[in-house]
Amino acid sequence: MTQSRRHGTHEVLNQVPPLVGYDVADDPALLSAIRRERCGWAEPELHELGVLAGTAATQELARQANANKPVLRTHDSRGYRIDEVDFHPSWHQLMTTAVSHGLHAAPWADKTPAAHVARAAKFLVWTQAEAGHGCPISMTYACVPALRHSPDLAARYEPLLTSASYDPGLRPPEGKAGLLAGMAMTEKQGGSDVRANTTTAVPAGDGSYLLTGHKWFCSAPMCDLFLVLAQAPEGLTCFLLPRVLPDGSRNAMYIQRLKDKLGNCSNASCEAEYDAAVAWPVGEPGRGVPTIINMVSATRLDCVLGSAAAIRQSAVIAASYARLRQAFGVPLIDHPAMTGVIADLTVESEAATTLAIRLAGAADRAARGDAAEAALLRVALPAAKYWICKRTPMIAAEALECLGGNGYVEDYSPMPRLLRDSPLNSIWEGSGNVTALDVLRALTRAPACADALLAEVDLAAGDRRAAAAAASLRVLLNEAEGPDGERYARRLAGQITVTLQASLLARHAPAAIWDAFSSSRLGTTASAGSSAGSVTGPGTPFGSLPDGLDLAAIVARSAVSTG
Ligand SMILES: Cc1cc2nc3c(=O)[nH]c(=O)nc-3n(C[C@H](O)[C@H](O)[C@H](O)COP(=O)(O)OP(=O)(O)OC[C@H]3O[C@@H](n4cnc5c(N)ncnc54)[C@H](O)[C@@H]3O)c2cc1C
Repeated sequence: MTQSRRHGTHEVLNQVPPLVGYDVADDPALLSAIRRERCGWAEPELHELGVLAGTAATQELARQANANKPVLRTHDSRGYRIDEVDFHPSWHQLMTTAVSHGLHAAPWADKTPAAHVARAAKFLVWTQAEAGHGCPISMTYACVPALRHSPDLAARYEPLLTSASYDPGLRPPEGKAGLLAGMAMTEKQGGSDVRANTTTAVPAGDGSYLLTGHKWFCSAPMCDLFLVLAQAPEGLTCFLLPRVLPDGSRNAMYIQRLKDKLGNCSNASCEAEYDAAVAWPVGEPGRGVPTIINMVSATRLDCVLGSAAAIRQSAVIAASYARLRQAFGVPLIDHPAMTGVIADLTVESEAATTLAIRLAGAADRAARGDAAEAALLRVALPAAKYWICKRTPMIAAEALECLGGNGYVEDYSPMPRLLRDSPLNSIWEGSGNVTALDVLRALTRAPACADALLAEVDLAAGDRRAAAAAASLRVLLNEAEGPDGERYARRLAGQITVTLQASLLARHAPAAIWDAFSSSRLGTTASAGSSAGSVTGPGTPFGSLPDGLDLAAIVARSAVSTG
Protein backbone atom coordinates (compact mmCIF):
# COMPACT_ATOMS: atom_id res chain seq x y z
CA MET A 1 0.00 0.00 0.00
CA THR A 2 1.33 3.41 -0.94
CA GLN A 3 1.49 5.85 1.91
CA SER A 4 0.54 9.40 1.06
CA ARG A 5 3.28 11.85 1.90
CA ARG A 6 2.88 15.56 2.54
CA HIS A 7 5.61 17.70 1.15
CA GLY A 8 6.35 21.17 2.36
CA THR A 9 5.35 22.46 -1.07
CA HIS A 10 1.76 21.25 -0.50
CA GLU A 11 1.16 24.14 1.82
CA VAL A 12 -0.50 26.76 -0.37
CA LEU A 13 1.01 30.18 0.07
CA ASN A 14 0.67 33.52 -1.66
CA GLN A 15 -2.22 32.48 -3.90
CA VAL A 16 -4.80 35.15 -4.53
CA PRO A 17 -8.46 34.29 -3.85
CA PRO A 18 -10.91 34.64 -6.74
CA LEU A 19 -12.18 38.17 -7.23
CA VAL A 20 -15.84 37.66 -6.27
CA GLY A 21 -18.37 39.46 -4.12
CA TYR A 22 -17.78 42.93 -5.49
CA ASP A 23 -19.95 45.53 -7.13
CA VAL A 24 -18.92 45.85 -10.76
CA ALA A 25 -20.73 49.21 -10.87
CA ASP A 26 -18.42 50.55 -8.19
CA ASP A 27 -16.59 52.42 -10.93
CA PRO A 28 -15.96 56.11 -10.23
CA ALA A 29 -15.51 57.11 -13.88
CA LEU A 30 -18.74 55.39 -14.87
CA LEU A 31 -20.77 56.81 -12.01
CA SER A 32 -19.64 60.39 -12.53
CA ALA A 33 -20.20 60.05 -16.30
CA ILE A 34 -23.82 58.97 -15.88
CA ARG A 35 -24.44 61.77 -13.36
CA ARG A 36 -23.18 64.26 -15.93
CA GLU A 37 -25.66 62.77 -18.36
CA ARG A 38 -28.45 63.39 -15.81
CA CYS A 39 -28.85 59.69 -15.39
CA GLY A 40 -28.12 59.36 -11.68
CA TRP A 41 -31.63 57.94 -11.30
CA ALA A 42 -30.29 54.70 -12.81
CA GLU A 43 -27.75 54.12 -10.05
CA PRO A 44 -29.78 51.81 -7.79
CA GLU A 45 -30.45 49.37 -10.65
CA LEU A 46 -26.87 49.75 -11.85
CA HIS A 47 -25.57 48.68 -8.46
CA GLU A 48 -28.08 45.84 -8.33
CA LEU A 49 -26.71 44.53 -11.63
CA GLY A 50 -23.15 45.27 -10.56
CA VAL A 51 -23.48 43.22 -7.39
CA LEU A 52 -25.07 40.39 -9.34
CA ALA A 53 -22.31 40.50 -11.97
CA GLY A 54 -19.67 40.24 -9.25
CA THR A 55 -21.07 37.15 -7.52
CA ALA A 56 -19.37 33.78 -7.68
CA ALA A 57 -22.66 32.33 -8.96
CA THR A 58 -22.72 34.66 -12.00
CA GLN A 59 -19.07 33.99 -12.72
CA GLU A 60 -19.86 30.30 -12.70
CA LEU A 61 -22.71 30.87 -15.18
CA ALA A 62 -20.26 32.69 -17.43
CA ARG A 63 -17.77 29.86 -17.18
CA GLN A 64 -20.39 27.24 -17.96
CA ALA A 65 -21.86 29.19 -20.87
CA ASN A 66 -18.42 29.32 -22.50
CA ALA A 67 -17.29 25.81 -21.59
CA ASN A 68 -20.52 24.31 -22.98
CA LYS A 69 -20.61 25.72 -26.49
CA PRO A 70 -23.92 25.92 -28.36
CA VAL A 71 -24.81 22.80 -30.33
CA LEU A 72 -26.49 22.79 -33.74
CA ARG A 73 -29.28 20.31 -34.42
CA THR A 74 -30.04 20.43 -38.13
CA HIS A 75 -32.59 17.58 -38.07
CA ASP A 76 -34.93 15.94 -35.62
CA SER A 77 -34.95 12.23 -34.91
CA ARG A 78 -37.25 11.56 -37.90
CA GLY A 79 -35.08 13.41 -40.37
CA TYR A 80 -37.07 16.64 -40.57
CA ARG A 81 -35.01 19.81 -40.70
CA ILE A 82 -35.32 21.86 -37.58
CA ASP A 83 -32.21 24.11 -37.66
CA GLU A 84 -32.15 24.75 -33.95
CA VAL A 85 -29.25 25.58 -31.70
CA ASP A 86 -29.19 24.33 -28.13
CA PHE A 87 -27.66 26.65 -25.58
CA HIS A 88 -26.55 25.64 -22.11
CA PRO A 89 -29.01 26.63 -19.33
CA SER A 90 -26.42 29.11 -18.05
CA TRP A 91 -26.78 31.09 -21.31
CA HIS A 92 -30.52 31.34 -20.77
CA GLN A 93 -30.00 32.57 -17.21
CA LEU A 94 -27.63 35.28 -18.39
CA MET A 95 -30.08 36.26 -21.12
CA THR A 96 -32.96 36.38 -18.66
CA THR A 97 -31.08 38.87 -16.49
CA ALA A 98 -30.09 41.00 -19.48
CA VAL A 99 -33.60 41.18 -20.93
CA SER A 100 -35.41 41.64 -17.61
CA HIS A 101 -33.15 44.63 -16.90
CA GLY A 102 -33.92 46.13 -20.30
CA LEU A 103 -30.41 45.86 -21.74
CA HIS A 104 -31.97 45.01 -25.10
CA ALA A 105 -34.49 47.28 -26.85
CA ALA A 106 -36.26 48.58 -23.73
CA PRO A 107 -35.17 52.25 -23.95
CA TRP A 108 -36.92 52.64 -27.29
CA ALA A 109 -40.19 52.34 -25.37
CA ASP A 110 -39.07 54.63 -22.56
CA LYS A 111 -39.64 58.36 -22.87
CA THR A 112 -37.50 59.16 -19.80
CA PRO A 113 -34.60 61.43 -20.82
CA ALA A 114 -31.30 59.53 -20.69
CA ALA A 115 -33.04 56.13 -20.91
CA HIS A 116 -30.44 55.15 -23.53
CA VAL A 117 -27.64 56.25 -21.20
CA ALA A 118 -29.07 54.12 -18.39
CA ARG A 119 -29.21 51.19 -20.75
CA ALA A 120 -25.64 51.84 -21.92
CA ALA A 121 -24.34 51.95 -18.35
CA LYS A 122 -26.18 48.74 -17.47
CA PHE A 123 -24.77 47.09 -20.58
CA LEU A 124 -21.26 48.23 -19.62
CA VAL A 125 -21.69 46.72 -16.17
CA TRP A 126 -23.48 43.49 -17.04
CA THR A 127 -21.24 42.62 -19.98
CA GLN A 128 -18.47 42.25 -17.38
CA ALA A 129 -20.38 39.20 -16.18
CA GLU A 130 -20.13 37.58 -19.62
CA ALA A 131 -19.64 39.23 -23.00
CA GLY A 132 -20.92 36.59 -25.45
CA HIS A 133 -24.62 36.88 -24.69
CA GLY A 134 -24.37 40.61 -25.31
CA CYS A 135 -24.46 39.87 -29.05
CA PRO A 136 -28.22 39.18 -29.43
CA ILE A 137 -28.90 41.80 -26.75
CA SER A 138 -27.06 44.47 -28.76
CA MET A 139 -28.59 43.43 -32.07
CA THR A 140 -32.07 43.58 -30.58
CA TYR A 141 -31.34 47.07 -29.27
CA ALA A 142 -29.93 48.12 -32.60
CA CYS A 143 -32.60 46.78 -34.93
CA VAL A 144 -35.33 49.17 -33.73
CA PRO A 145 -34.12 52.38 -35.42
CA ALA A 146 -33.74 50.48 -38.68
CA LEU A 147 -37.12 48.78 -38.32
CA ARG A 148 -38.78 52.17 -37.87
CA HIS A 149 -38.12 52.83 -41.55
CA SER A 150 -41.20 50.63 -42.04
CA PRO A 151 -43.77 51.90 -39.54
CA ASP A 152 -46.15 48.98 -40.07
CA LEU A 153 -43.46 46.42 -39.24
CA ALA A 154 -42.29 48.53 -36.30
CA ALA A 155 -45.86 48.75 -34.98
CA ARG A 156 -46.16 44.99 -35.18
CA TYR A 157 -42.84 43.97 -33.66
CA GLU A 158 -41.47 46.84 -31.58
CA PRO A 159 -43.70 46.19 -28.54
CA LEU A 160 -42.38 42.62 -28.45
CA LEU A 161 -38.76 43.62 -29.04
CA THR A 162 -38.95 46.07 -26.14
CA SER A 163 -40.72 43.64 -23.81
CA ALA A 164 -38.85 42.71 -20.64
CA SER A 165 -39.62 38.99 -21.10
CA TYR A 166 -37.02 36.57 -22.37
CA ASP A 167 -38.98 33.96 -24.25
CA PRO A 168 -36.61 31.57 -26.07
CA GLY A 169 -37.69 29.01 -28.64
CA LEU A 170 -38.85 29.07 -32.23
CA ARG A 171 -42.55 29.99 -32.38
CA PRO A 172 -44.58 32.52 -34.40
CA PRO A 173 -43.30 35.93 -33.28
CA GLU A 174 -46.74 37.42 -32.60
CA GLY A 175 -47.49 34.74 -30.02
CA LYS A 176 -44.36 35.25 -27.95
CA ALA A 177 -43.88 37.30 -24.81
CA GLY A 178 -40.69 38.90 -26.12
CA LEU A 179 -38.58 38.83 -29.24
CA LEU A 180 -34.90 39.01 -30.10
CA ALA A 181 -33.40 40.17 -33.38
CA GLY A 182 -30.21 39.42 -35.29
CA MET A 183 -28.54 40.67 -38.42
CA ALA A 184 -27.26 38.96 -41.57
CA MET A 185 -25.18 41.06 -43.93
CA THR A 186 -21.87 39.27 -44.35
CA GLU A 187 -21.48 36.79 -47.21
CA LYS A 188 -18.60 34.54 -48.23
CA GLN A 189 -17.26 37.00 -50.75
CA GLY A 190 -17.44 40.04 -48.48
CA GLY A 191 -18.47 41.53 -45.21
CA SER A 192 -17.13 45.06 -45.44
CA ASP A 193 -18.26 45.41 -49.03
CA VAL A 194 -21.90 44.57 -48.43
CA ARG A 195 -22.84 45.82 -51.87
CA ALA A 196 -21.17 42.64 -53.15
CA ASN A 197 -24.05 40.64 -51.61
CA THR A 198 -25.43 38.03 -53.98
CA THR A 199 -28.50 36.87 -52.05
CA THR A 200 -31.47 37.52 -54.30
CA ALA A 201 -34.90 38.82 -53.31
CA VAL A 202 -37.80 38.14 -55.64
CA PRO A 203 -41.15 39.89 -55.09
CA ALA A 204 -43.80 37.33 -54.12
CA GLY A 205 -46.65 39.57 -55.21
CA ASP A 206 -48.16 40.07 -51.76
CA GLY A 207 -45.68 42.64 -50.44
CA SER A 208 -43.25 39.97 -49.28
CA TYR A 209 -40.13 38.81 -51.09
CA LEU A 210 -38.50 35.38 -51.40
CA LEU A 211 -34.80 35.39 -50.47
CA THR A 212 -32.32 32.87 -51.82
CA GLY A 213 -28.63 32.88 -50.99
CA HIS A 214 -26.11 32.39 -48.25
CA LYS A 215 -24.87 34.32 -45.24
CA TRP A 216 -21.36 33.54 -44.04
CA PHE A 217 -21.65 34.98 -40.53
CA CYS A 218 -25.00 35.08 -38.80
CA SER A 219 -24.72 35.22 -35.03
CA ALA A 220 -27.33 34.23 -32.48
CA PRO A 221 -29.34 32.25 -35.04
CA MET A 222 -32.06 31.44 -32.50
CA CYS A 223 -33.23 35.03 -32.66
CA ASP A 224 -36.81 35.45 -33.80
CA LEU A 225 -36.21 38.08 -36.47
CA PHE A 226 -33.28 39.06 -38.67
CA LEU A 227 -32.49 42.16 -40.64
CA VAL A 228 -30.98 40.87 -43.86
CA LEU A 229 -29.50 42.50 -46.94
CA ALA A 230 -30.42 41.08 -50.33
CA GLN A 231 -30.49 42.15 -53.96
CA ALA A 232 -34.04 43.04 -54.96
CA PRO A 233 -34.99 44.21 -58.48
CA GLU A 234 -34.80 47.76 -57.04
CA GLY A 235 -31.24 47.19 -55.74
CA LEU A 236 -29.73 46.19 -52.41
CA THR A 237 -32.56 46.18 -49.88
CA CYS A 238 -32.96 45.60 -46.17
CA PHE A 239 -35.45 42.89 -45.22
CA LEU A 240 -37.04 41.58 -42.06
CA LEU A 241 -36.84 37.81 -42.07
CA PRO A 242 -38.57 35.84 -39.29
CA ARG A 243 -37.39 32.35 -38.31
CA VAL A 244 -41.02 31.24 -37.95
CA LEU A 245 -43.77 32.46 -40.27
CA PRO A 246 -47.09 33.77 -38.99
CA ASP A 247 -48.80 30.44 -39.85
CA GLY A 248 -46.37 28.60 -37.55
CA SER A 249 -44.26 26.99 -40.28
CA ARG A 250 -40.48 27.35 -40.23
CA ASN A 251 -39.10 29.88 -42.67
CA ALA A 252 -36.62 28.50 -45.19
CA MET A 253 -33.50 29.59 -43.29
CA TYR A 254 -31.19 26.61 -43.00
CA ILE A 255 -28.25 26.61 -40.60
CA GLN A 256 -25.42 24.79 -42.35
CA ARG A 257 -22.92 24.82 -39.51
CA LEU A 258 -21.70 26.78 -36.52
CA LYS A 259 -18.35 28.56 -36.60
CA ASP A 260 -15.60 27.22 -34.36
CA LYS A 261 -14.42 30.57 -33.00
CA LEU A 262 -11.41 31.94 -31.13
CA GLY A 263 -13.63 33.51 -28.48
CA ASN A 264 -17.25 34.57 -28.06
CA CYS A 265 -17.75 30.87 -27.35
CA SER A 266 -21.02 31.10 -25.45
CA ASN A 267 -22.64 32.68 -28.50
CA ALA A 268 -23.43 30.78 -31.69
CA SER A 269 -22.39 32.20 -35.06
CA CYS A 270 -23.64 30.25 -38.04
CA GLU A 271 -23.48 29.94 -41.79
CA ALA A 272 -27.03 30.10 -43.09
CA GLU A 273 -28.70 29.43 -46.41
CA TYR A 274 -32.00 30.90 -47.52
CA ASP A 275 -34.05 28.89 -49.98
CA ALA A 276 -36.91 31.18 -50.96
CA ALA A 277 -37.19 32.40 -47.38
CA VAL A 278 -40.04 34.85 -46.80
CA ALA A 279 -39.05 38.40 -45.85
CA TRP A 280 -40.56 41.87 -45.84
CA PRO A 281 -38.73 44.98 -47.05
CA VAL A 282 -37.64 47.44 -44.38
CA GLY A 283 -37.35 50.99 -45.65
CA GLU A 284 -37.30 51.87 -49.29
CA PRO A 285 -36.39 49.01 -51.66
CA GLY A 286 -32.95 49.69 -53.13
CA ARG A 287 -31.91 51.72 -50.05
CA GLY A 288 -30.72 48.77 -47.99
CA VAL A 289 -27.42 50.22 -46.82
CA PRO A 290 -28.81 53.55 -45.55
CA THR A 291 -31.53 51.58 -43.75
CA ILE A 292 -29.39 48.97 -42.06
CA ILE A 293 -26.72 51.54 -41.21
CA ASN A 294 -29.00 52.63 -38.37
CA MET A 295 -28.60 49.18 -36.89
CA VAL A 296 -24.87 49.15 -37.53
CA SER A 297 -24.47 52.52 -35.78
CA ALA A 298 -26.28 51.34 -32.65
CA THR A 299 -24.30 48.12 -32.48
CA ARG A 300 -21.10 50.15 -32.85
CA LEU A 301 -22.01 52.00 -29.69
CA ASP A 302 -22.25 48.64 -27.95
CA CYS A 303 -18.85 47.66 -29.36
CA VAL A 304 -17.40 50.76 -27.67
CA LEU A 305 -19.28 50.06 -24.44
CA GLY A 306 -18.30 46.40 -24.49
CA SER A 307 -14.64 47.24 -25.03
CA ALA A 308 -14.69 49.91 -22.32
CA ALA A 309 -16.15 47.23 -20.06
CA ALA A 310 -13.41 44.76 -20.94
CA ILE A 311 -10.77 47.41 -20.26
CA ARG A 312 -12.28 48.26 -16.88
CA GLN A 313 -12.59 44.58 -15.97
CA SER A 314 -8.98 43.95 -16.99
CA ALA A 315 -7.74 46.87 -14.88
CA VAL A 316 -9.77 45.77 -11.86
CA ILE A 317 -8.66 42.14 -12.04
CA ALA A 318 -5.02 43.15 -12.47
CA ALA A 319 -5.16 45.71 -9.66
CA SER A 320 -6.89 43.35 -7.28
CA TYR A 321 -4.40 40.58 -7.92
CA ALA A 322 -1.42 42.91 -7.63
CA ARG A 323 -2.64 44.10 -4.24
CA LEU A 324 -2.85 40.58 -2.83
CA ARG A 325 0.07 38.83 -4.45
CA GLN A 326 3.50 39.30 -2.95
CA ALA A 327 6.78 39.19 -4.83
CA PHE A 328 10.14 39.68 -3.17
CA GLY A 329 8.31 40.25 0.13
CA VAL A 330 6.22 43.16 -1.08
CA PRO A 331 2.72 43.34 -2.65
CA LEU A 332 3.14 43.44 -6.40
CA ILE A 333 1.31 46.72 -6.68
CA ASP A 334 3.95 48.43 -4.52
CA HIS A 335 6.74 47.59 -6.94
CA PRO A 336 7.16 50.81 -8.93
CA ALA A 337 7.19 49.07 -12.31
CA MET A 338 3.91 47.32 -11.46
CA THR A 339 2.33 50.47 -10.00
CA GLY A 340 3.03 52.11 -13.34
CA VAL A 341 1.36 49.30 -15.29
CA ILE A 342 -1.79 49.28 -13.14
CA ALA A 343 -1.95 53.08 -13.25
CA ASP A 344 -1.65 53.09 -17.02
CA LEU A 345 -4.42 50.49 -17.40
CA THR A 346 -6.57 52.58 -15.07
CA VAL A 347 -6.02 55.74 -17.09
CA GLU A 348 -6.97 53.89 -20.26
CA SER A 349 -10.11 52.57 -18.58
CA GLU A 350 -11.20 56.00 -17.39
CA ALA A 351 -10.67 57.51 -20.83
CA ALA A 352 -12.60 54.70 -22.55
CA THR A 353 -15.52 54.72 -20.12
CA THR A 354 -15.81 58.50 -20.04
CA LEU A 355 -15.99 58.74 -23.82
CA ALA A 356 -18.28 55.71 -24.15
CA ILE A 357 -20.88 57.25 -21.83
CA ARG A 358 -20.54 60.65 -23.52
CA LEU A 359 -21.36 58.90 -26.81
CA ALA A 360 -24.30 57.13 -25.18
CA GLY A 361 -25.55 60.58 -24.14
CA ALA A 362 -25.16 61.76 -27.72
CA ALA A 363 -27.10 58.70 -28.93
CA ASP A 364 -29.86 59.46 -26.44
CA ARG A 365 -30.15 63.07 -27.54
CA ALA A 366 -29.82 62.18 -31.24
CA ALA A 367 -32.69 59.71 -30.85
CA ARG A 368 -34.77 62.59 -29.48
CA GLY A 369 -33.99 64.81 -32.49
CA ASP A 370 -30.82 66.71 -31.49
CA ALA A 371 -29.08 67.30 -34.84
CA ALA A 372 -25.75 68.52 -33.41
CA GLU A 373 -25.47 65.42 -31.22
CA ALA A 374 -26.34 63.23 -34.22
CA ALA A 375 -23.54 64.93 -36.18
CA LEU A 376 -21.07 64.40 -33.34
CA LEU A 377 -22.05 60.74 -33.12
CA ARG A 378 -21.68 60.27 -36.87
CA VAL A 379 -17.96 61.08 -36.67
CA ALA A 380 -17.04 60.26 -33.06
CA LEU A 381 -18.63 56.84 -32.89
CA PRO A 382 -16.66 55.18 -35.71
CA ALA A 383 -13.52 56.91 -34.43
CA ALA A 384 -14.07 55.60 -30.90
CA LYS A 385 -14.99 52.17 -32.19
CA TYR A 386 -11.75 52.08 -34.14
CA TRP A 387 -9.52 53.26 -31.31
CA ILE A 388 -11.03 51.84 -28.13
CA CYS A 389 -11.87 48.41 -29.56
CA LYS A 390 -8.47 48.12 -31.16
CA ARG A 391 -6.62 48.91 -27.92
CA THR A 392 -8.60 46.37 -25.91
CA PRO A 393 -6.58 43.24 -26.79
CA MET A 394 -3.35 45.02 -25.78
CA ILE A 395 -4.88 45.95 -22.46
CA ALA A 396 -6.29 42.48 -21.85
CA ALA A 397 -2.89 40.96 -22.61
CA GLU A 398 -1.12 43.39 -20.28
CA ALA A 399 -3.63 42.79 -17.47
CA LEU A 400 -3.33 39.05 -17.96
CA GLU A 401 0.41 39.33 -17.57
CA CYS A 402 -0.05 41.12 -14.24
CA LEU A 403 -1.24 37.74 -12.98
CA GLY A 404 1.95 36.13 -14.25
CA GLY A 405 1.52 32.47 -15.20
CA ASN A 406 -1.78 32.35 -13.31
CA GLY A 407 -3.18 34.76 -15.88
CA TYR A 408 -2.75 32.10 -18.52
CA VAL A 409 -4.74 29.47 -16.64
CA GLU A 410 -8.41 28.99 -17.47
CA ASP A 411 -9.83 28.29 -14.02
CA TYR A 412 -7.79 30.91 -12.16
CA SER A 413 -9.52 34.03 -13.43
CA PRO A 414 -11.65 35.21 -16.39
CA MET A 415 -8.54 36.73 -18.02
CA PRO A 416 -8.03 33.99 -20.67
CA ARG A 417 -11.66 34.41 -21.75
CA LEU A 418 -11.31 38.18 -21.75
CA LEU A 419 -8.25 37.99 -23.96
CA ARG A 420 -9.92 35.61 -26.40
CA ASP A 421 -13.00 37.83 -26.59
CA SER A 422 -11.08 41.09 -26.80
CA PRO A 423 -10.38 41.44 -30.57
CA LEU A 424 -13.97 40.84 -31.62
CA ASN A 425 -15.50 44.27 -31.11
CA SER A 426 -12.93 45.66 -33.50
CA ILE A 427 -13.79 43.13 -36.21
CA TRP A 428 -17.56 43.06 -36.42
CA GLU A 429 -19.75 46.01 -37.35
CA GLY A 430 -16.92 47.38 -39.46
CA SER A 431 -13.33 46.26 -38.97
CA GLY A 432 -10.58 48.76 -38.11
CA ASN A 433 -9.88 50.20 -41.55
CA VAL A 434 -13.53 50.32 -42.44
CA THR A 435 -14.54 52.28 -39.36
CA ALA A 436 -11.56 54.60 -39.79
CA LEU A 437 -12.63 55.21 -43.39
CA ASP A 438 -16.15 55.92 -42.12
CA VAL A 439 -14.71 58.75 -40.06
CA LEU A 440 -13.28 60.30 -43.22
CA ARG A 441 -16.55 59.74 -45.06
CA ALA A 442 -18.52 61.49 -42.32
CA LEU A 443 -16.19 64.47 -42.37
CA THR A 444 -16.24 64.72 -46.15
CA ARG A 445 -19.98 64.33 -46.64
CA ALA A 446 -21.35 66.29 -43.69
CA PRO A 447 -19.59 69.51 -42.66
CA ALA A 448 -21.80 69.52 -39.55
CA CYS A 449 -19.76 66.55 -38.26
CA ALA A 450 -16.51 68.52 -38.11
CA ASP A 451 -18.34 71.47 -36.54
CA ALA A 452 -19.88 69.27 -33.84
CA LEU A 453 -16.58 67.52 -33.20
CA LEU A 454 -14.58 70.73 -32.84
CA ALA A 455 -17.27 72.31 -30.69
CA GLU A 456 -17.04 69.38 -28.28
CA VAL A 457 -13.24 69.42 -28.30
CA ASP A 458 -13.16 73.18 -27.70
CA LEU A 459 -15.20 72.90 -24.53
CA ALA A 460 -11.86 72.25 -22.85
CA ALA A 461 -10.10 75.16 -24.59
CA GLY A 462 -9.35 76.71 -21.21
CA ASP A 463 -6.89 73.93 -20.49
CA ARG A 464 -3.52 74.45 -22.14
CA ARG A 465 -2.88 70.77 -22.88
CA ALA A 466 -6.36 70.11 -24.20
CA ALA A 467 -6.14 73.25 -26.35
CA ALA A 468 -2.84 72.05 -27.82
CA ALA A 469 -4.41 68.68 -28.62
CA ALA A 470 -7.32 70.43 -30.34
CA ALA A 471 -4.86 72.50 -32.39
CA SER A 472 -3.03 69.34 -33.53
CA LEU A 473 -6.32 67.76 -34.47
CA ARG A 474 -7.21 70.78 -36.61
CA VAL A 475 -3.92 70.40 -38.49
CA LEU A 476 -4.57 66.72 -39.15
CA LEU A 477 -8.15 67.40 -40.24
CA ASN A 478 -6.81 69.84 -42.84
CA GLU A 479 -4.16 67.40 -44.05
CA ALA A 480 -6.71 64.60 -44.40
CA GLU A 481 -8.87 66.72 -46.67
CA GLY A 482 -6.57 66.06 -49.63
CA PRO A 483 -7.14 63.49 -52.38
CA ASP A 484 -5.06 60.84 -50.60
CA GLY A 485 -7.04 61.28 -47.37
CA GLU A 486 -7.47 57.51 -46.93
CA ARG A 487 -3.83 57.31 -45.89
CA TYR A 488 -4.74 59.41 -42.87
CA ALA A 489 -7.83 57.44 -41.89
CA ARG A 490 -6.38 55.49 -38.97
CA ARG A 491 -4.33 58.40 -37.63
CA LEU A 492 -7.32 60.66 -37.85
CA ALA A 493 -9.67 58.21 -36.12
CA GLY A 494 -7.12 57.71 -33.36
CA GLN A 495 -6.43 61.39 -32.90
CA ILE A 496 -10.11 62.30 -32.89
CA THR A 497 -10.71 59.76 -30.14
CA VAL A 498 -7.76 60.80 -28.01
CA THR A 499 -8.62 64.50 -28.41
CA LEU A 500 -12.24 63.89 -27.41
CA GLN A 501 -11.03 61.90 -24.41
CA ALA A 502 -8.69 64.77 -23.56
CA SER A 503 -11.52 67.28 -23.73
CA LEU A 504 -13.64 65.18 -21.40
CA LEU A 505 -10.91 64.26 -18.93
CA ALA A 506 -9.58 67.84 -18.74
CA ARG A 507 -13.02 68.99 -17.65
CA HIS A 508 -14.24 66.09 -15.56
CA ALA A 509 -11.51 63.72 -14.37
CA PRO A 510 -9.53 64.01 -11.14
CA ALA A 511 -6.25 65.86 -11.66
CA ALA A 512 -4.17 62.69 -11.29
CA ILE A 513 -5.97 60.99 -14.18
CA TRP A 514 -5.86 64.05 -16.42
CA ASP A 515 -2.17 64.63 -15.71
CA ALA A 516 -1.36 61.04 -16.59
CA PHE A 517 -3.51 61.02 -19.71
CA SER A 518 -2.28 64.34 -21.05
CA SER A 519 1.37 63.57 -20.40
CA SER A 520 1.25 60.11 -21.96
CA ARG A 521 -1.41 60.15 -24.70
CA LEU A 522 -1.18 63.58 -26.29
CA GLY A 523 2.48 63.94 -27.23
CA THR A 524 3.02 63.21 -30.88
CA THR A 525 6.79 63.30 -30.74
CA ALA A 526 7.03 60.89 -27.86
CA SER A 527 4.83 58.28 -29.47
CA ALA A 528 6.99 58.41 -32.57
CA GLY A 529 10.01 57.60 -30.44
CA SER A 530 11.65 60.84 -31.48
CA SER A 531 14.63 62.68 -30.12
CA ALA A 532 12.48 63.82 -27.23
CA GLY A 533 13.82 60.62 -25.73
CA SER A 534 10.58 59.76 -24.01
CA VAL A 535 9.07 56.33 -24.44
CA THR A 536 5.61 57.18 -23.23
CA GLY A 537 2.64 57.61 -25.52
CA PRO A 538 -0.11 55.51 -26.98
CA GLY A 539 2.27 53.60 -29.20
CA THR A 540 4.34 52.14 -26.39
CA PRO A 541 3.52 49.25 -24.07
CA PHE A 542 1.46 50.11 -21.02
CA GLY A 543 3.35 50.99 -17.88
CA SER A 544 5.60 53.59 -19.48
CA LEU A 545 4.07 56.66 -17.83
CA PRO A 546 6.35 59.66 -17.33
CA ASP A 547 7.63 60.82 -13.95
CA GLY A 548 5.92 63.09 -11.48
CA LEU A 549 2.42 61.60 -11.53
CA ASP A 550 0.26 60.73 -8.54
CA LEU A 551 0.20 57.00 -9.27
CA ALA A 552 -1.25 56.08 -5.87
CA ALA A 553 -4.33 58.22 -6.53
CA ILE A 554 -4.70 56.67 -9.97
CA VAL A 555 -4.46 53.02 -8.93
CA ALA A 556 -6.93 53.64 -6.10
CA ARG A 557 -9.59 54.10 -8.77
CA SER A 558 -9.22 50.49 -9.86
CA ALA A 559 -9.71 49.18 -6.34
CA VAL A 560 -12.97 47.42 -5.56
CA SER A 561 -14.07 46.16 -2.20
CA THR A 562 -15.10 42.55 -1.84
CA GLY A 563 -17.57 41.63 0.81
C1 LIG B 1 -17.69 36.16 -34.20
C2 LIG B 1 -18.24 36.90 -35.36
C3 LIG B 1 -19.60 37.08 -35.46
C4 LIG B 1 -20.15 37.77 -36.54
N1 LIG B 1 -21.50 37.91 -36.62
C5 LIG B 1 -22.06 38.52 -37.71
C6 LIG B 1 -23.48 38.64 -37.84
O1 LIG B 1 -24.23 38.25 -36.96
N2 LIG B 1 -23.96 39.20 -38.96
C7 LIG B 1 -23.15 39.67 -39.95
O2 LIG B 1 -23.65 40.18 -40.94
N3 LIG B 1 -21.81 39.57 -39.86
C8 LIG B 1 -21.25 39.02 -38.76
N4 LIG B 1 -19.88 38.91 -38.65
C9 LIG B 1 -19.06 39.30 -39.77
C10 LIG B 1 -18.28 40.60 -39.58
O3 LIG B 1 -19.15 41.69 -39.52
C11 LIG B 1 -17.31 40.67 -40.76
O4 LIG B 1 -16.38 39.63 -40.58
C12 LIG B 1 -16.61 42.00 -40.84
O5 LIG B 1 -17.53 43.00 -41.19
C13 LIG B 1 -15.47 42.00 -41.87
O6 LIG B 1 -15.90 41.47 -43.07
P1 LIG B 1 -15.08 40.30 -43.78
O7 LIG B 1 -14.86 39.21 -42.77
O8 LIG B 1 -15.76 39.89 -45.03
O9 LIG B 1 -13.69 40.91 -44.09
P2 LIG B 1 -13.26 41.78 -45.38
O10 LIG B 1 -14.38 42.69 -45.75
O11 LIG B 1 -12.73 40.88 -46.40
O12 LIG B 1 -12.09 42.65 -44.76
C14 LIG B 1 -10.83 42.07 -44.42
C15 LIG B 1 -9.92 43.17 -43.88
O13 LIG B 1 -9.77 44.16 -44.87
C16 LIG B 1 -10.08 45.44 -44.36
N5 LIG B 1 -10.71 46.23 -45.41
C17 LIG B 1 -11.91 46.02 -46.01
N6 LIG B 1 -12.17 47.01 -46.88
C18 LIG B 1 -11.11 47.85 -46.86
C19 LIG B 1 -10.78 49.06 -47.54
N7 LIG B 1 -11.64 49.62 -48.40
N8 LIG B 1 -9.60 49.65 -47.27
C20 LIG B 1 -8.74 49.12 -46.37
N9 LIG B 1 -9.00 47.99 -45.70
C21 LIG B 1 -10.16 47.36 -45.93
C22 LIG B 1 -11.01 45.20 -43.18
O14 LIG B 1 -10.90 46.25 -42.21
C23 LIG B 1 -10.47 43.88 -42.65
O15 LIG B 1 -9.42 44.13 -41.76
C24 LIG B 1 -19.31 38.27 -37.54
C25 LIG B 1 -17.93 38.12 -37.44
C26 LIG B 1 -17.40 37.45 -36.36
C27 LIG B 1 -15.92 37.29 -36.26
